[in-house]
Amino acid sequence: MAQKHHAEVAIIGGGIMGSAIAYYVAKAGLDCMLIEKNDIASGTSSKCDGNITIVDKDPGYDSKMSLVSQELTVELKKDLAIPFEYRELGSILVCDNDAEMEAAMEWVGIQNEAGLKFNVLDREDIRQESPYFADDIPGGLECETDSLINPYLYCYSLVERAKEYGLKLFTHTEVTSLSKKEDFTIETSNGTFTAKKVINAAGVWAPFIGEMLNLDIPIVPRKGHIMVGARQKPVMMRNVMEFGYLMNKFQRERIADQETLKYGVALVLEPTESQNFLLGSSREFVGLNGSVDMNVVRTMARRALRFFPKMNDFNMIRTYTGFRPWTEDHLPIVSAVEEIPGFYIAAGHEGDGISLATVTGKLIEQIVCESETIIPIDPLRFDRFKKKVPTTSM
Ligand SMILES: Cc1cc2nc3c(=O)[nH]c(=O)nc-3n(C[C@H](O)[C@H](O)[C@H](O)COP(=O)(O)OP(=O)(O)OC[C@H]3O[C@@H](n4cnc5c(N)ncnc54)[C@H](O)[C@@H]3O)c2cc1C
Repeated sequence: MAQKHHAEVAIIGGGIMGSAIAYYVAKAGLDCMLIEKNDIASGTSSKCDGNITIVDKDPGYDSKMSLVSQELTVELKKDLAIPFEYRELGSILVCDNDAEMEAAMEWVGIQNEAGLKFNVLDREDIRQESPYFADDIPGGLECETDSLINPYLYCYSLVERAKEYGLKLFTHTEVTSLSKKEDFTIETSNGTFTAKKVINAAGVWAPFIGEMLNLDIPIVPRKGHIMVGARQKPVMMRNVMEFGYLMNKFQRERIADQETLKYGVALVLEPTESQNFLLGSSREFVGLNGSVDMNVVRTMARRALRFFPKMNDFNMIRTYTGFRPWTEDHLPIVSAVEEIPGFYIAAGHEGDGISLATVTGKLIEQIVCESETIIPIDPLRFDRFKKKVPTTSM
């Protein structure tokens, strides 16, 4: 008979959320285990960019949460042994036209009023950023405090340290059913586990874990494509997005050609420490089909050439897709579930999971330990969706 494992806290999902939670919960001295159906970072957290950004957050709660996450990530650098390519260079947004430039200036004003370090960049500033930029870019903006990490390494770094604090790790262990009497019983492909508390950190698969307890978790996969550029002389030193990225993310009206709009394409270019670069990205609601769509890839390449026309002879070496866990109001669920005492959700971070993982890990530790939270958690409550029906239009 397979061995039965027990822990005070079981975390389901070894993506960036589960890894950050495992780190903080183990560090707080709780007996915990992490259960992952494949390997660490085998889901969305290895199929994404690595931006820890405020530049693309709504001013207010959203940007504050990201700022706190950035601060915690800097602190973690001191405690984590495996380096995770942390680079604090700031990031920029570039504008396609004068109308976007006007909106960008307004955006900087709003972010400055919220106390965030944003600056307007003019045409000449943009030229200084990269010799590859098109000459007709009217300008853009920068956020000084943004940073970059390698999310894949970050997950491993967190989990390795958590193991030293006592975490028990079970990879290649798929949760197949979940029930609760006094304790939770977790049936897996690798035997039966029991726990007093369960944290659902399964990203876009969190609704399937919810269903096991008859719980409807309104998270929808929002697919994204990324291309990887061959190693070469750096295109630029820090992350760049186009202003239209904000329009796509928040589903606001945007002026662009039909295919760009259809596939939700907006330029994101991330230089990596290995001197490759990641070029993205797209946003589509097409279920959990992860195949690469060459129409989307072509549209992304065309969009990149609008801003970097001198890139037209660059070699791209591969393309991959990932699923952003989308919620209707663009905020994650980081919450206890009132109707099932001992059950928690940490999922639904859409395109912000890398930015918000560290603060999410800390919050879950504080919620589970019933201590004061580092930021207010009301906007992240699960029951905010109770009266709403999620929509899945672009
Ligand atoms: C193209 C793209 C670009 C992005 N760029 C950025 C960016 O620059 N900055 C940013 O902040 N965010 C970005 N994101 C978003 C970010 O990647 C996600 O929000 C984040 O990775 C979600 O992490 P997670 O841990 O919730 O989910 P995941 O990483 O998917 O982890 C969930 C884990 O649960 C496991 N699991 C599922 N079901 C079970 C089960 N039954 N039993 C056991 N385990 C299970 C899965 O195998 C998986 O490993 C991007 C996303 C995409 C797609």
